[in-house]
Amino acid sequence: MKKEIENIWKKLKIWLGSSTIMDSKTYNEYIHEAKLAYIGNENGYAIVTPTDFSKLVLSTYETDLHKKLQELFNEPITLEFLTKDEYELREQILNKTTLNNEQFVEFSFKNFISGSTNNNAFAAAKTVSENLGKAWNPLFIFGSTGLGKTHLLKAIEHNALINSKYKLKIRYIDSETFGNAVVEIISSGHEAIEKFINQTFGSYDVLLIDDIQLIAKRQKTNEIFFKIFNYFINNNKQLVLTSDKYPEELDGFEERLISRFQSGLTVGIEAPDYETAMLIIKSDLENQGILQLISDEVKIYMAQNLSSDVRKIKGFIIKLQFWNIQNNSEEHIITLDDIFSLTKDAPISNIGKLNPRRIKEVVADTYGVNVKSMESQSRIKPLIIPRYVAMYLMKHLLNMTLDRIGSQFSGRDHSTVVTAITRIEEEIQKSISFKKVVEKLKKQLSRP
Ligand code: ADP
Ligand code: MG
Repeated sequence: MKKEIENIWKKLKIWLGSSTIMDSKTYNEYIHEAKLAYIGNENGYAIVTPTDFSKLVLSTYETDLHKKLQELFNEPITLEFLTKDEYELREQILNKTTLNNEQFVEFSFKNFISGSTNNNAFAAAKTVSENLGKAWNPLFIFGSTGLGKTHLLKAIEHNALINSKYKLKIRYIDSETFGNAVVEIISSGHEAIEKFINQTFGSYDVLLIDDIQLIAKRQKTNEIFFKIFNYFINNNKQLVLTSDKYPEELDGFEERLISRFQSGLTVGIEAPDYETAMLIIKSDLENQGILQLISDEVKIYMAQNLSSDVRKIKGFIIKLQFWNIQNNSEEHIITLDDIFSLTKDAPISNIGKLNPRRIKEVVADTYGVNVKSMESQSRIKPLIIPRYVAMYLMKHLLNMTLDRIGSQFSGRDHSTVVTAITRIEEEIQKSISFKKVVEKLKKQLSRP
């Protein structure tokens, strides 16, 4: 079987090399790196490419390639174009025999946590994926970066493929790839553009275009997009668009296009509220297998400080995972204190807003002294500990250099700062109550 496919691919390449349908640049760049693969049991084949871009370029030759392959196989076949990732995923799912296996799919509806801030978008995406072309067309999802737009598009793709048992042709494309393809296609002339619109895109049942704000100002791309858009809507084929802006705020598109965007359903995603953020955090920690190793205060801290962007939550959890592996610790529970010492050179959002002034104010307030005397040269006793604590916190929360810390206190030199930090570290070791005061200060300073 494998042998036969390889032979046929070879024959196809020979034929392409001697025909005029493809120029040599396309051949060398894209055919060269592609391969033919068997998918499923009904004479289904795919041309598998390393990138989404090469998939797009080759799929503009679909008609010719399909025809020639049928001739070479000497029977009818179906032909798809898949990236290597899509192909591998498809193989895994098919090999599991059950089509509904979501285990391999990161961006599924099942893995999307919904709460009051993203419920509408979630429900709309799910409904659309189950009623393609019938519920709302287009569906337009907008929201800031990192809030789950791409996740929902991929979930629609996955759900629609599964529901149709892979019969439907569904195309997810990001606007950057789309724009670049347009540039390439334009250089090959008018006929290629028509083909690109009618055959390449026209052959899809469902089109999912991500981040359309990126093509708003690219005029030629924008025009071609308009044609594809109309073609889909007029033929009741489902179109889903995402953008980081409201339709009205998308400068660069024509008015008439913007009003057509709104002829379907427009839904927004907002940053998760505390409860939703907490659910996302717990579910991701669970997926990473470290839920039990992270203290509640850290979870709370994350929900309070990182909820404006789910991608940041995910990024932070990867860091936690990494620390956990590095420390090789199965039992150690990561506390907020660990976070502060671990994030020294990668302060997380709120720590970024902290400054030396605020540290001095909060410490002075805690000890009932004033900031001016704490900064001064005075060596009277009640000022020493607060001054040292402030220096210690500047090191730990802001990772300032010793000289810079010294300059915050009437230009003391760095050896004084070393003495201060060492002294505080010793006190923390010696006295539980002192340790508690310092911990409380750290927490107070890292909260909004
Ligand atoms: P966008 O496309 O809006 O910039 P993404 O869809 O790429 O955002 O989301 C960023 C990351 O956050 C992805 O890993 C995604 O899976 C995850 N994510 C976003 N929202 C949710 C959610 N509600 N539940 C689970 N994961 C989410
Ligand atoms: Mg995205």
